[in-house]
Amino acid sequence: MQNSTELESNFKRIRSLIPENVQLVAVSKTHPAEMIQSAYDLGQRVFGENKVQELLAKQPVLPRDIAWHLIGHLQTNKVKYIAGFIDTVQSVDSAKILHEINKQAEKHNRTIKVLLQIKIAAEDTKFGLHKDEAEILFQQYLAGDFPHVQITGLMGMATFTEDRETVKKEFSTLKNIFDEFSMHRQLQTLSMGMSDDFQLAIECGANSVRIGSALFGKRNYGTSF
Ligand SMILES: *Cc1c(COP(=O)(O)O)cnc(C)c1O
Repeated sequence: MQNSTELESNFKRIRSLIPENVQLVAVSKTHPAEMIQSAYDLGQRVFGENKVQELLAKQPVLPRDIAWHLIGHLQTNKVKYIAGFIDTVQSVDSAKILHEINKQAEKHNRTIKVLLQIKIAAEDTKFGLHKDEAEILFQQYLAGDFPHVQITGLMGMATFTEDRETVKKEFSTLKNIFDEFSMHRQLQTLSMGMSDDFQLAIECGANSVRIGSALFGKRNYGTSF
């Protein structure tokens, strides 16, 4: 695990590579609460976690004004645990989960921001909606379904490959879908790009990037948080 001096230099370097108008989501999964606190102390406020259980362990011991983003596949039966505080669910990958987020948000008298996760990668292990499924959900949303969610944008993950052309093509596909959806109602957030490809993602139109290892160092999945 890296120390807070390394974190500070990584943070400054990454922030300098990202234009002012691009949101940085610091992906803190597997890293302890103290590391998140150090990033918070450097000014970072938006953090991404991919597991509900891990998020629930960290959230109560960290500052209230952190905007938590859930970035991993979310199970329907777990929405209730995070509905009271989650800022954004980036990984809406089914109609069912969107219905449940809406229902739980209503119970908490809140509106939860969500991104529709679009499947852009060739690998079929990646979660996500096909474009036409997303389109149906977006139309239902525009018609007034899901009053307790706010669909603020789209999220996607490119294929895990060294081939920049493939990644670029996938990012551009998502940008096109974003523009198409925005003709019906302007979306704010296009979340794409991680440690290895965030600059390419920004070139392709991303205005939110999810960065973990380039910020916090390599993940050790054996460590407890
Ligand atoms: C882990 C994760 C990231 C960050 O990955 P890095 O390569 O460490 O930057 C981004 N997005 C999602 C959905 C993730 O699960």
